[in-house]
Amino acid sequence: MTDTIQTVVYELHPNKTMKLVLDEAIDYRRYCWNQALETWNELYLAHKIYDKILWTKFIPKQNKKTGKITVKPIDIHLNPSPNWKMVRDIMVHDKADWQYQRSAHLLGLAVKDLGNAWQNFFDKAQPDWGKPHFHSRREPRQGFKSDQSKIVDGLLRLERPQKSLVPSEEWRDFKLSEKPLSDKIGVVSYFRENGRYYAAVPFKVANKKALPKTGKNTAVDVNVGHFNYTDGQQNVLPKKLERIYEKIKHYQRKLAHKRVVTGSTQSNNYLKTRTKLQACYRKASNIQNDLMHKFTTKLVNNYDQIVIENLSVKGMLMSHVASKGVHRSMFGRFKQMLTYKCKWYGRKLILADKLYPSTQRCAVCGTIKHGDERITLYGNKKHGTKHNEFVCYNKKCPNYNLVVDRDTNAMFNLLALIEHPKLNKAL
Ligand SMILES: [Zn+2]
Repeated sequence: MTDTIQTVVYELHPNKTMKLVLDEAIDYRRYCWNQALETWNELYLAHKIYDKILWTKFIPKQNKKTGKITVKPIDIHLNPSPNWKMVRDIMVHDKADWQYQRSAHLLGLAVKDLGNAWQNFFDKAQPDWGKPHFHSRREPRQGFKSDQSKIVDGLLRLERPQKSLVPSEEWRDFKLSEKPLSDKIGVVSYFRENGRYYAAVPFKVANKKALPKTGKNTAVDVNVGHFNYTDGQQNVLPKKLERIYEKIKHYQRKLAHKRVVTGSTQSNNYLKTRTKLQACYRKASNIQNDLMHKFTTKLVNNYDQIVIENLSVKGMLMSHVASKGVHRSMFGRFKQMLTYKCKWYGRKLILADKLYPSTQRCAVCGTIKHGDERITLYGNKKHGTKHNEFVCYNKKCPNYNLVVDRDTNAMFNLLALIEHPKLNKAL
């Protein structure tokens, strides 16, 4: 049985020491890449100018089935064209003392990736690949790869180079915001963007057995406090989550106040508050994960096909949510979990086009609202309808002038995409 690769991106929250470790690894990756590229270019130049065939080696090879022996000639060049193993061997041979404090695997992977980049560049089937270029420390996103990272007791462990200056008792594993999908992982990509740290972990997940068909389909309309689907509503903003959002807001304000008034971010009080804030983030994340796991499991258990919106564009009235950013992160997690669970269990997930007007279309007659008829986050001014109301003004529609629930209407519009895939676009 083959494994499915399922990549999950986590934000990491390294302490000071581990931040330094990650920064150093990022710098070292760039150093290795740039040095490998320089070496590669030199070797290539030498190959172009000074290459000649020194001798030809004849290597006998026996065919295992027929027993026949053939002789294969191999030309030995003075300056062969470069490959990644050559470049790696030169770089390992020329290592400076300080490089032994860094991971040797990191060097190897950087050179291997450079080899792939050259291969892609020369591959005529991939004309969009640019020539490999030198990296600058000013690039907004920087990272490195590790093929030695492990999942240990639910934590992500980066390998510690034997001669690292960070003592092993200070080397920390990274907490993951979501339970790892598996203990088996591939090459992990660590990266830094806007001062935050992330890890993309490719989990090797044993293929699950497809669930039996249920003959039922559904669609999910995502809203701030509840998700609407064909069998009702799922509450996604329970009281306990709201209370934690309030606390997050409170601690965030307290920290901002301390920064402005006392100007110190190292005082005991400041650090104490920050620890409390981080604990709240973790609690919120746990509740969200739990909610989304249960709901997505329910969906894949009960339905063959599921339609959801493209959540990156959804406008929502968030004014009453204390911690909007933290709450919004749940929607991304919903899509991520539903995507991999559908894949595991043989369900079909349909993503609505970004421009499909699920809010503006009447699900009964298909009339689409335009101009000042459109429903905004605050309802419709012209007709005086509220934000949660949908009214169709097409006189031929069975629902003419009837006030229906906006989210239910949107959900039925999403559901319509299963039978009418041609509608899945801007209308
Ligand atoms: Zn209608």
